[in-house]
Amino acid sequence: MTPAMKAAAGRFVSRAAHMLEHHPKQVTLAVAALLLGAGSIAVASIEDPADSLPPARQVVEDVVPASLTAQSEALGAFSYNLYRSDTMRGSDTVESLFSRLGVTDAAAAAYLRTDPTFRTRVLGRGGQMVTAEASDKHALVKLTARWASDDANFQRLVVERNAQGQFTTRVETAPLVPNVRLGSGTIYSNLFAAVDESRIPDGVAIQMAEIFSGAIDFHRGLRKGDRFSVVYETLDADGEPLRTGKVLSTEFTNAGKQVNAVWFQEPGKKGAYFDFAGKSLERMFLASPMEFSRVTSGFAMRFHPILNQWRAHKGVDYGAPTGTAVRAVGDGVVEFAGWQNGYGNVVIVDHGKGAVTLYGHLSRVNVKRGEKVARSQNIGNVGATGWATGPHLHFEFRENGIHKDPLTVVRNSPTVELTAQARPKFEESVRNVRLVLDAASTSHLASR
Ligand SMILES: [Zn+2]
Repeated sequence: MTPAMKAAAGRFVSRAAHMLEHHPKQVTLAVAALLLGAGSIAVASIEDPADSLPPARQVVEDVVPASLTAQSEALGAFSYNLYRSDTMRGSDTVESLFSRLGVTDAAAAAYLRTDPTFRTRVLGRGGQMVTAEASDKHALVKLTARWASDDANFQRLVVERNAQGQFTTRVETAPLVPNVRLGSGTIYSNLFAAVDESRIPDGVAIQMAEIFSGAIDFHRGLRKGDRFSVVYETLDADGEPLRTGKVLSTEFTNAGKQVNAVWFQEPGKKGAYFDFAGKSLERMFLASPMEFSRVTSGFAMRFHPILNQWRAHKGVDYGAPTGTAVRAVGDGVVEFAGWQNGYGNVVIVDHGKGAVTLYGHLSRVNVKRGEKVARSQNIGNVGATGWATGPHLHFEFRENGIHKDPLTVVRNSPTVELTAQARPKFEESVRNVRLVLDAASTSHLASR
């Protein structure tokens, strides 16, 4: 990096950090969008020291959403409108929705209760994003509900009070807008509590857990004080994320050890996650036989497996509610599916080359002996059959008959390296995402 580039990059970072400090919970990080989505623009202005315009300032001012300016101006005025957003719940009534949105308006409530469009499209469904604009007296000025109608579009229902004080309803269709967002957080209890705190969607947390599953045991290995930063795609409706897309890059510090990942696609190849050194994070085996989820992450084992009756216990126990889906950690053939003493309902999968996995205490077995299974295919459900005093999955990994720690096996399994031709482009991506991730983690620490 030339000194000019360094300075320009520094301005990007401090600008990004500034934005994050002021919107620490949820940031539509325009700088991230430019670095990743339109990298050529940002990089071009960094590389051209003769560029008379400060690139960071130019970039940010172009993309600050107009609504933010409008809102801060409105707040400074004598009378002002209040904006509040929330997600519609299936159990919501007009009253419960109004109370969360800070609206107190009997006429508006009466209108919505009898409005056929609002009743059929919004009430009793749940999941829609609802925004209310209310006067400083809490009267409804405008209510907007948005939901995705297909992969590319969303529908927007707008209820508005006109000059005569009467309400009207209309439904519009508009395109979803791809965006890039950035978030960061610290673990105090579990990953989902941390992403809630940072307003990062569940889908992003689950992807992070899958991406790093070979390095971090998200079910049992998280420590208080672990930190993460993540850059991810969203599909936005009117500037709010309605759908979550791919994680583009992420960094996780677990028990003082940092791991990182970036999504990268070589021309003509399938995209995959790589660490910043260019090693693929895809492994032959999944590290966990259960998908990481809000349910499994919050489920503590409140019992102890009957160890003294089962001295040869050499597995990993995952506490999870009865019925939680269990998946094969690799491609293979079902060697056994049925009842065995101690294990209860059990599935044993032969992965070839001496590798065998076992899934015990199942409430349900969903495969048959001799059946081929694919990596991550569902094979059964968690239960408490056999020698178990509470619902959990007993998981074993054997190599040539010897019990192994599954995480160790996964860590030691071979990885794909990038081709030499892809290196320069890969390293450029890593440089770009590093700036953004650093900005996120710095501002996160500063905002605490
Ligand atoms: Zn066990």
